[in-house]
Amino acid sequence: QSAFATALRIPKDAIFALTAQYNADPASVKVNLGQGTYRDEAGQPWILPSVVEARRRVHCQKQNHEYLPILGLPEFRKAVPKLVLGARSFDRVSSQIASCQSLSGTGGLHLAGACIKRFSSLSPTIWIPEPTWSNHHLVFKTLGFQCRTFQYYDFESKSLDMKSYIDMLMTAEPNSIVILHACAHNPTGCDPTKEQWQEIGNIMKRRQLFPFFDAAYLGFNSGDLDNDTYAIRYFVNELDMEAAVSVSFAKNMGLYGERVGCTFFVTHGSDVAGNTESVLEQLQRSEVSNPPAYGAKIASTILDDEGLTSMWKKDLATMCSRIEGMRQALYDALLANSQLIPRQAAHN
Ligand code: PLP
Repeated sequence: QSAFATALRIPKDAIFALTAQYNADPASVKVNLGQGTYRDEAGQPWILPSVVEARRRVHCQKQNHEYLPILGLPEFRKAVPKLVLGARSFDRVSSQIASCQSLSGTGGLHLAGACIKRFSSLSPTIWIPEPTWSNHHLVFKTLGFQCRTFQYYDFESKSLDMKSYIDMLMTAEPNSIVILHACAHNPTGCDPTKEQWQEIGNIMKRRQLFPFFDAAYLGFNSGDLDNDTYAIRYFVNELDMEAAVSVSFAKNMGLYGERVGCTFFVTHGSDVAGNTESVLEQLQRSEVSNPPAYGAKIASTILDDEGLTSMWKKDLATMCSRIEGMRQALYDALLANSQLIPRQAAHN
């Protein structure tokens, strides 16, 4: 009898399984509908020119392979909240921020979630939009949260279901947590307008609901970082709310496999921030000891150099406009082809 005889057979993750099927498929004409990773005109992974240059600089510095500190690369942990909040607001609240480098966006959600669950006075109830990114429920359920859902998207009108959203915000218990896709809601691509974000934020503040931003696509959504950080900046800078933010550089720097992320809390006090950061540090130590160095060095080389940052912004605009063009082409082709299909068949 094995010690693991009671282990269940868990079905493979659907998205990763689809990519594995795609890779195994010998067809010469095929499209990968698994993980969303940006490809160039030739269908190949694109290494951003800003990343190529940052890599060159990192290599030139002949950096060693020592461990990073437990909280991660200090300049990276500082550069990320500064990027997200904007330089001026960052200066205002920098002493109230607890930040920690994380294993990309997923690791950031987990780390901030673990910190909230074990060391905050927030409720263990977390509100997750329906639909959402396929991993949200798993990450937060695994941490022991009670996951509740609210209808985010109206499939009939193909738009944000603002009524259900507001109903949830008006009835959720104070101190509950709400997961907010900072931009580029996955999977619908449908985000609140600025006015709708203001309405959501104002109610959340009034009803003492805690915003937990999942920021996996900053700059990748509109090509403009100011635009894509609007919601976070409104909640933190305008409404002066405490918040958790998990930032990923997988998509916007194309550093998918390097696992480059930063998770941070904006709090209402510097002592509180220091204590919270010490908690993040201990959690990180117990889980991975310290985060991977290479990707964070590349990202901070970009973020700490004005020339490289503007090069990166151009790269973001390149990716966004190509994605938009591809989507339009697909839409046009589907439309053109649907007219070729007899109505009845198209309906089925
Ligand atoms: N959050 C959302 C909404 C996502 O779509 C993804 C990736 O697809 C992530 C978080 C996490 O990505 P990663 O862990 O690769 O940074």
